[in-house]
Amino acid sequence: MKCPNCGNRESVEIDTHSEGFSSEECPVKECGVCGLVWRVKMVNDNMEIDIIKPAPQ
Ligand SMILES: [Zn+2]
Repeated sequence: MKCPNCGNRESVEIDTHSEGFSSEECPVKECGVCGLVWRVKMVNDNMEIDIIKPAPQ
């Protein structure tokens, strides 16, 4: 999964159970390069990108 902000592939899945997210179907990813936090959800069989935390400047 490429980062939707910078396109880097070095994203990591972060454990969000302690933060109240349900990550069963939509794992939350954090970009290792720009710091963007997002997840991908399926809406009517379409992938939709949900930005949780914008990349810090
Ligand atoms: Zn990025």
